[in-house]
Amino acid sequence: MSDLSSLPAVEKLAAALSPEVSLPRPLVNLFVRREIQTFREKLIAEERHSREEMEASIKESLHAFENSRLQPVINATGVLIHTNLGRSPLGPRAAGALQKIATGYSNLEFDLPSGARGKRAGYLETALACLLETEAATAVNNCAAALVLTLRTLVADGKNEVIVSRSELVEIGGGFRIPEILETSGAKLVEVGATNKTHLYDYEKAITAQTALILKVHRSNFYIGGFVGEPEIPEIAELCKKHGFPLVEDLGSGAMMNTEDLAPIDHEPTPQECLRRGIDLVIFSGDKLLGGPQSGIIGGRADLIAEIKKEPFFRAVRCDKLILTTLQESIDQYLEVRADPASSDVPVLTFLGTSTKDLRDRAEKILSGFSSGNVAVSIEDTLARPGGGTMPRAEFPSIALKLVPSNQSVPKLAKKLRVGSPALVGYTTDDALFLDLRTIFPADDACVAKALAQVL
Ligand SMILES: *Cc1c(COP(=O)(O)O)cnc(C)c1O
Repeated sequence: MSDLSSLPAVEKLAAALSPEVSLPRPLVNLFVRREIQTFREKLIAEERHSREEMEASIKESLHAFENSRLQPVINATGVLIHTNLGRSPLGPRAAGALQKIATGYSNLEFDLPSGARGKRAGYLETALACLLETEAATAVNNCAAALVLTLRTLVADGKNEVIVSRSELVEIGGGFRIPEILETSGAKLVEVGATNKTHLYDYEKAITAQTALILKVHRSNFYIGGFVGEPEIPEIAELCKKHGFPLVEDLGSGAMMNTEDLAPIDHEPTPQECLRRGIDLVIFSGDKLLGGPQSGIIGGRADLIAEIKKEPFFRAVRCDKLILTTLQESIDQYLEVRADPASSDVPVLTFLGTSTKDLRDRAEKILSGFSSGNVAVSIEDTLARPGGGTMPRAEFPSIALKLVPSNQSVPKLAKKLRVGSPALVGYTTDDALFLDLRTIFPADDACVAKALAQVL
């Protein structure tokens, strides 16, 4: 096979297409070469294409690749913690701290008063423990890593059984399944109870000399109802204490406030509540309802946290300075606004608490001075969701712009907005595109109006 990159025609085509996209030239060359190779193979298979067809196809794939570059997106889905859209945005305070630490040197592992080597994340760990009202805490790269690390630390040869209720064998998504996480961690899963009911005696009967711990997993992305039941946490905690092994809970979301005070939704259990009820170690994500950076937080008994920090795997999943600084800011802010979490600058909490009247006013403003030719635009009452594997049942009132195009299909209109600049992502039903105001930053309203004016 001849080297396509050396062909002048390939070079010429790449040069011609390069100004159409904002991509480094070597990537344009790579794409043009790849695409031409595909057309070559088609030609050999006797599939004919005109030069125009080829160029159009190459241009399209170049644009698709350009769109795959990590970039800001306006979230008009009404899903607050959208895993595909980066979960929780950081507040201005955390983002400001990130800028400062990222662009300079810091005391990451340096003790300023003594001038000697310092403890990494010492401040954060103390602040976390204080916020969680517990003995100790630490943070790693994400909740999945925190769980694997905790299990690896607490299971040992000859003492590797982890008891989990059959109603909590959760799949979180993105390859996270409790049975597989246990296996990866060297733990042996001992399932107890039934899908709908687990009794205290189920746990009790499963305890052997090999039991390492009991694991509770919060049903953060599904719910069960009807003939259901499970023992209270204090009862399970007492059982664990009696037998001398810990009770660990994978809580998932990590809400730091009463969610029901912010919006008409259920109460999401907080890590503090879990610990008060007798959980020895609680594990949760930093970028779900907490609204911080991607991280996994572990809080609880000091002796267990100390063991976790000594486990060699801890080194492999430790946070870098950028995460540590944004998490530190997020935690400090919760400590400061404790009495009034709604006054924090965490965007998901602000979005959760915004009134529908405010959303409607903004929707009207976006549409003012708007002449809809080929699209019927209206303001609709909708439902927003927390998303991101938190409170699967919760839906609360929201406001959306409903767009019904008459001269193009709904998917086509939706795509135009998605590939615009900035990208605008809504959701579609059979006959309409919805842009939900609840998850749009008010500062982006003007961009939304502009994007609409452009495509309509
Ligand atoms: C979201 C979630 C996880 C995974 O958290 P990551 O931070 O994405 O690793 C684990 N367990 C539960 C119960 C969750 O809800």
